[in-house]
Amino acid sequence: MILHHLSEKNSVLNHFLSQIRDIERQKDSMRFRKNMERIGEIMAYEMSKQFSFVPQTTTTPLGEKATFFVENPIVICSVLRAGLALHTGFTAFFDEAENGYISAYRHHFDGSNKFEIVVQYKAVPAFADKNVVLVDPMLATGASLVAVYNKIMAHENPKEIHIAVVVAAPEGIAYLEKNLPNNCHLWIAAIDEKLNAANYIVPGLGDAGDLAFGNKL
Ligand code: URA
Repeated sequence: MILHHLSEKNSVLNHFLSQIRDIERQKDSMRFRKNMERIGEIMAYEMSKQFSFVPQTTTTPLGEKATFFVENPIVICSVLRAGLALHTGFTAFFDEAENGYISAYRHHFDGSNKFEIVVQYKAVPAFADKNVVLVDPMLATGASLVAVYNKIMAHENPKEIHIAVVVAAPEGIAYLEKNLPNNCHLWIAAIDEKLNAANYIVPGLGDAGDLAFGNKL
């Protein structure tokens, strides 16, 4: 696993991160979604520095110039529903990308903290020779990301795999390192302290899906 931790150096990313964590400011769901979107844009820009580029000659009104374009097609694939605002941020920069969606939720047994990941819905294009960006804002146990990865990558041969998360727990990073291939890139905006008994990230920000889209039953 190739780890990229983006908030080590201060930038406007940390400004947006502080707003999505803030218990008062995060009550404004429009701002919460917008900040997730802006974080997606920043992550897309940073990620693009890892892509392969090919040279071309571009004709301007005044002459010709050697320029570069991204070599491999991109697929942005998001985990429903929390990933949607972050996904929008990626589409702002990877504007010709194909898009995939997959659902994953924690099914709790008998009301306890024990759960299994249920992956039900999958709508993804082919991945061969493409750069696949798997988007999920909260990396808690890592179980849902690995379940989603196994569901969508079976028999696929992408060029590169990039996983984008906003807040990660050390436990989730360790789980991905153990269960995903070494050449996967893991992009993390912020690494937090730990998981609590309910497997939520501490201090984290709460439930990213609820904050963006409202409570669910
Ligand atoms: N999902 C969330 O939305 N928040 C967490 O802290 C963990 C998983």
